[in-house]
Amino acid sequence: MSLDRSMARCSFCGRYSSDVRRMIAGPGAAYICDDCLQLCNDILRDPAPFSPQALELASRPPVVVAAPTPLNQDRSESTSTRTPVRTITVELEQKQQGMTLILHQIQYYQDFFELQYLWIRPPFTAGFAFVPRIIFFVKDNTGIQWTGDRGGMILSRPDLASGPNNAVYQGTARFRPLPSTEARTLTIRAVDPLGQFETPPPQPWEFEITITA
Ligand SMILES: [Zn+2]
Repeated sequence: MSLDRSMARCSFCGRYSSDVRRMIAGPGAAYICDDCLQLCNDILRDPAPFSPQALELASRPPVVVAAPTPLNQDRSESTSTRTPVRTITVELEQKQQGMTLILHQIQYYQDFFELQYLWIRPPFTAGFAFVPRIIFFVKDNTGIQWTGDRGGMILSRPDLASGPNNAVYQGTARFRPLPSTEARTLTIRAVDPLGQFETPPPQPWEFEITITA
């Protein structure tokens, strides 16, 4: 089987071979480019176990790479599952205990839907030990509910931060299955799981969204 290596993408940053100086192939569809290798070296040299660089690297969205596909294989199927069939613009913003959650939009795909959001909060201190996330609880007016997410991601967006005292995280949360065709509204509650350790814990953010076609 001949493999299309020209489609190789760095597993750490997603760039293609043509966009990097050197690409090192690992097992299967794993690759790493020279820039990401250098970043890993910098992380190794930093004695802090969870440096900002390490956190940034860990919070990147996963690079979705199919195993190298044989040449000339039809890619139309995988393309169609990645194209939203419907986009609902939300643009709702709510503050809660010094943090702001902006629900940007909801996108329906063939068999799941995604919430896209921005989370503005004080920056996590260096040494913070895991990738931050928001936990969602979603319910529609027919009583169907979704908890947690299936395959969401979060991405640090220092370019959107207004100063050193806030950090911006751009995230998606994915839910299956799609709401039924009878669903007219979605109630979305969201919490910062770390906030649950505060006394008293903060109220969840709560949004009510009309999804009528
Ligand atoms: Zn890379």
